[in-house]
Amino acid sequence: MNSSTRAAGKAMAEKMVQFINQSPSAFHAVETCRQRLEACGFTRLSEKQSWVGKIQNNGKYYFIRNSSSIIAFAVGGKYQAPNGLKIIGAHTDSPNFQIKPVSATGKAGVQQVSVATYGGGLWHTWFDRDLTVAGRVMVRRGGTIEPRLVHVERPLLKIPNLCIHLQSAEERAALKISKEDHICPILCTNIMAELNSGPAKSGDKPKHHPVLLDILATKLGCEAGDILDFDLSLCDTQPAVVGGALDEFVFAPRLDNLASTFCALEALVTAPDLENDPQCRVIALFDNEEVGSESYQGAGCTHLATLINRLVCDFKTGASTPQDADVSAANSVVISADGAHAVHPCYMGKHHELHRPEMQKGVVLKFNANQRYATTAWIAAAVRELCAGADCPLQDFAVGNDTGCGSTIGPITATRLGIKTIDCGIAQLSMHSVRETCGTIDVLYFVRMMTKVFTDWHKLDIEEDVAPAPKKAKS
Ligand SMILES: [Zn+2]
Repeated sequence: MNSSTRAAGKAMAEKMVQFINQSPSAFHAVETCRQRLEACGFTRLSEKQSWVGKIQNNGKYYFIRNSSSIIAFAVGGKYQAPNGLKIIGAHTDSPNFQIKPVSATGKAGVQQVSVATYGGGLWHTWFDRDLTVAGRVMVRRGGTIEPRLVHVERPLLKIPNLCIHLQSAEERAALKISKEDHICPILCTNIMAELNSGPAKSGDKPKHHPVLLDILATKLGCEAGDILDFDLSLCDTQPAVVGGALDEFVFAPRLDNLASTFCALEALVTAPDLENDPQCRVIALFDNEEVGSESYQGAGCTHLATLINRLVCDFKTGASTPQDADVSAANSVVISADGAHAVHPCYMGKHHELHRPEMQKGVVLKFNANQRYATTAWIAAAVRELCAGADCPLQDFAVGNDTGCGSTIGPITATRLGIKTIDCGIAQLSMHSVRETCGTIDVLYFVRMMTKVFTDWHKLDIEEDVAPAPKKAKS
């Protein structure tokens, strides 16, 4: 690594920090992507309509599901069905607390908000943080119902620790948190709420505290009574930053997996030479990875299959042959991009001694003999070849035999779609904490790798099988 790489890494990381700060929820992440795509000449498509006659070579498009999952694609100038797709997959969601459908609760003179845990968070890191809410609100406006984004920037909520003096030595040592009993953020005191809006009216108990609804309504410019429902999660108000003594770390919430989401978007909108590309370039940014991907907007859904089906027909007439979708899948590749575990200097034993990814040392290729990651030697070799001349170092990761292994969208898309897949990502510390850490230059490396996949994957000359077989379709 030289000083220009260092400077370029910091610049790219600062761009990512901005992206993360604009994306406090999965809904906001999709909107941040949408705005960038629109600015870069991408056109929105609807799944409710046929795309016949709407897409063309060199065209750039995107479509959205549930406002929390987005697929964007650029059709190569030389693409013809069924040449296949180069897909970078990532996820827009992160572990957090979601406000329950009925959230108004409270004890000991304070109003609290009942929340559900979403995904597997390091929940103790959320204590004593200055929290707020962000997400999607369904608002009645005249005769229509509108989904609206909301993010309250100021600190609203607190999950307080129990002070040390009221804990026994055993309790302190155990640090055992009940996700139901101990995590119920405080919104305000009753006494202040009454001073604010008068004594609580008798009658039906409200589903949500009026104090909370009033704040949302003010932010949205509507009446509290027009708020029909919402998908709201808690988030930290402390912005993401580039930090460390040598300005080489990103300290941020939601690095898993907004880091990959950002890199995928950056690669798609900046990769050159689309005119000569015989394939389609795709980024698929799914919701609900943290809870298993099985949803209308998760990686287990039909979102990508829809795309493949609509790209294998003649763009003008819609005509296709029955096996084109299968051939297209066989010609395609998925780069499943998600956070990787950097070795922790105080817990070296948690990583196998030969597989210890470090920050600032390159993109991590993830292997798992039990297929928790989809990487095979075939696709790893292909990616190594692509990165060799691109100043994009790689590292290998596999867990020790006595350690559990996370998983990601790679095995899911590989299984559902029959597409060769590699799992890879940026090494980070504190995964699933309210605030995570990664290296600035790794962000640059990941963008370089993804860009190389888009520009050069189809140029690789790599046999499909050990037995002589026909080569993949080439234009
Ligand atoms: Zn992840």
